[in-house]
Amino acid sequence: MQAANWPKTIQQREFHHVRTVLLRRPPAAPAASAADSEVDTFKSIYKQLIEINTTDSVGSTTEASQAMRQRLLDVGFAPGDFEVIEPYPRKGNLLGRYKGTGLKKPLLLLAHIDVVEARREDWKTDPFKLQEVDGRNIARGAIDDKAMAASYVSALAQLRREGFKPNRDMVLALTADEELGDSPANGASWLLKNRRQDVDAEFGINEGGRGELKNGKPHAHVMQIGEKTFLQYQFEATGPGAHSARPTPANTIYDLAEALVRLRQYRFPVDINPAARTYFERSAPMQAEDVRADFLAVAGGNPPADVVERLSNRGPIIGLLRTTCVATMVQAGHAVTAQAQSAKATINCRALPGQDLEFVEQKLREIAGPKVKVTQQVREEPAPGSPLKPELMQVVESISGSMWPGVPVVPTMGVSTTDSRHFRAAGIPMYGVSGLFVDPDKTGVHALDENIGVAELLKGREFMYQLIKRLASQS
Ligand SMILES: [Zn+2]
Repeated sequence: MQAANWPKTIQQREFHHVRTVLLRRPPAAPAASAADSEVDTFKSIYKQLIEINTTDSVGSTTEASQAMRQRLLDVGFAPGDFEVIEPYPRKGNLLGRYKGTGLKKPLLLLAHIDVVEARREDWKTDPFKLQEVDGRNIARGAIDDKAMAASYVSALAQLRREGFKPNRDMVLALTADEELGDSPANGASWLLKNRRQDVDAEFGINEGGRGELKNGKPHAHVMQIGEKTFLQYQFEATGPGAHSARPTPANTIYDLAEALVRLRQYRFPVDINPAARTYFERSAPMQAEDVRADFLAVAGGNPPADVVERLSNRGPIIGLLRTTCVATMVQAGHAVTAQAQSAKATINCRALPGQDLEFVEQKLREIAGPKVKVTQQVREEPAPGSPLKPELMQVVESISGSMWPGVPVVPTMGVSTTDSRHFRAAGIPMYGVSGLFVDPDKTGVHALDENIGVAELLKGREFMYQLIKRLASQS
């Protein structure tokens, strides 16, 4: 999943050339002998993918795409089946398909292969060398999103070795620049704009879901079926300033502060969408008794105000109930002895799918008042939620139920964003489901020492293999 901001340098750079790279050899890959088990092959693909640095600053998703393409050619796919598309230098994408009989419309397997920056001096181990410590894989991208990318490549390779004949094409897209948001080199969005027919699908699988461990035990298998829209605004008060020894009533810091207090007190209307409703309904049985009743009240629709108030104070739950806007940065003043000529705040909003974005902006203007100017800085493309397709849900629930008995599959709305929004906006329903179980507080995703249990990773790969096979066998 992506961080909100991405460097302006990308936007400002001018990139002209679009290259389709078919023939370049990838960097040396550890050779997999025929005797290697599928698990060993997967581990080797995963390690190779992680150890190719794909950060924005110095890495290359082109190199990673070439390596993954070679893995697929090694098991017998034709060179024309998968291509590396590099619209911007170092920002390549792998696109191709495992052809089926065409009985059903294609299935899209989407994963981004760029990663968030990581500094060696901040980490316990080298973030770009896969380390196994106490049964855990530690590296940048150990989860986000190279675990899924490697699982797809390994599953397609295994199916190919097994001679599997799918009833639909399985389209693989391993893409660049997800972590930078609406970057011009964002592979998902670039492919939709420039290669629409080649990524077309009945529906797709992507990051955004996960299994949740509680005290080390599988607890819920979360499936992302929608996500909020990212918006960013600036509040700014400006004035002539003054010597601080002779203060004047016109004070930009106070004007801004008053607007921020009004923002703090404002709540957007509660709107329980189908994804959130299903989440509250399915996860109610897992809650402590007092919370369970509140969850069920929300699942029933129109929850009373006191229920909403209690749940709004329970960490991430607030994001499921309503659109939110919060001040994240402030900047004001230029000297300790001067009244500030300018006071600015950054306001970050996450709008519910279907939220009228003009309404959000209008509200912010009302809250800011006449002395504070509101400027929109970022407005990501809004996208509808994906429908709960029964034929997909049955497959996910059946595989999940056999691998993690008694653990419910819980559809929900993501409060952070993924590349699924581009496809949803283009009419292709996307589902975030991974089979990767983690303790949500200890993943290190976008942070230090990103890690996943070795056993959990291998089970996630097995889940993905079964999921792809079952979905491609549907008739
Ligand atoms: Zn991600």
